Amino acid sequence: MQTSFTLAQLADPDVAVSEKILRACVHCGFCTATCPTYVLDGNELDSPRGRIYLIKDMLEHDRPATADVVLHIDRCLSCLACMTTCPSGVHYMHLVDHARVHIERTYRRPPGDRLLRALLAWLMPHPQRFRLALAAARLGKPLAPLAELVGLKRVAAMLALSPWRAPSRPLASQIFPASGARRGRVALLAGCVNDLLAPEINAAAISVLTRHGIEVVLANGAGCCGSLVHHMGRDDAALAQARANIDVWSGLEGLDAIVITTSGCGTTVKDYGFMFRTDPVYADRAKRISSLAKDIAEYLSGLPLEAVESPPGLVVAYHAACSLQHGQRIVRQPRDLIAKLGFAVKDVPDGHLCCGSAGTYNILQPSIATRLRERKVGTIEGLRPDVIAAGNIGCITQIAAGTELPIVHTVELIDWATGGPCPPALRERLKQVRVT
Ligand code: SF4
Ligand code: SF4
Repeated sequence: MQTSFTLAQLADPDVAVSEKILRACVHCGFCTATCPTYVLDGNELDSPRGRIYLIKDMLEHDRPATADVVLHIDRCLSCLACMTTCPSGVHYMHLVDHARVHIERTYRRPPGDRLLRALLAWLMPHPQRFRLALAAARLGKPLAPLAELVGLKRVAAMLALSPWRAPSRPLASQIFPASGARRGRVALLAGCVNDLLAPEINAAAISVLTRHGIEVVLANGAGCCGSLVHHMGRDDAALAQARANIDVWSGLEGLDAIVITTSGCGTTVKDYGFMFRTDPVYADRAKRISSLAKDIAEYLSGLPLEAVESPPGLVVAYHAACSLQHGQRIVRQPRDLIAKLGFAVKDVPDGHLCCGSAGTYNILQPSIATRLRERKVGTIEGLRPDVIAAGNIGCITQIAAGTELPIVHTVELIDWATGGPCPPALRERLKQVRVT
């Protein structure tokens, strides 16, 4: 694609990167076929190619974002299916990240939108604050249908997604020693919401790692990876959160990896090297941290895991989180690992399409998110599985809101098969399987 940025514009390193990305696009349109928003409505402006044109026009003319551009960029899930499909290697993620920062700096959103975004950015990266919000949402949860009825769709979405059970406490920073001889040492990124909504996920990760000789460090001062605010275009806040993690993890001796149980966070930590590429103080350390980042399934694939007993013939529908399959290009490892451990794994048809979770997307764009969830749940239930497995708490929460099937994190199955406890969400299902 031809571009016409001036030399002065190209002196800005962010514009220079975006210009290279834009030039790589040959407008073939292959990406449209795998873009969830285009698949739903067939609107070119809600396709990757359409968005690329909108971003090009906005950046080239260095003009403030318009309401129309914001509408179509906001509808993008950042699922990155377009990157997997693109034959020209267009790095859509860095382009849309740049566009979102530009929107945040140049566009004044309506007051309700501003307030909601500010609230989410203030709450979600801070587990103690978010825990209080979840406790309050639990009380208001029965009012979700009423909120929907009076048109408060985003409030309804927040209430519907909040869990019925009381939020747990976040894990305190500590060291979990390896059982037996120590074979490795990793830092665990606990994630902002994992421990509040599903403490069994990190418990399973720690259990399987320590049982296989890996010491696990939950470092004091490590917190949100920055992705929640990064996807809202709040770059300063995202970089501040990332810097805090880089400082903390760089101070830990002898780390083999930074293990991440939330694939959305993993995609962002793996991008720290790019995010700090022009920062003279952080560039090298950020690159090193990115090189250490590993999804839990990716890391466990390198360990000699053995099933201690055959799982009871459970059929698992493996839902590939977009951040894992498109963001990190980890496609086979999680499903191969659970298959190797004895589960009957089924791939979900149209597995490249997002479930509609996408960070805060299911709150900010509830209509599209709900349609994507219905589509995803339909394809999963068609497989008639005993359980759904996914590697991301966002997907787990989103899909669970639309189905009665039990849903667990992949690492819970891995831990169980290798000697850990049965995942709590599966205990009832297991009784039924054993009876039949
Ligand atoms: S597939 Fe790639 S090159 Fe083709 S239009 Fe989409 S982004 Fe551009
Ligand atoms: S990131 Fe996902 S929603 Fe956004 S343009 Fe690409 S495929 Fe479409």
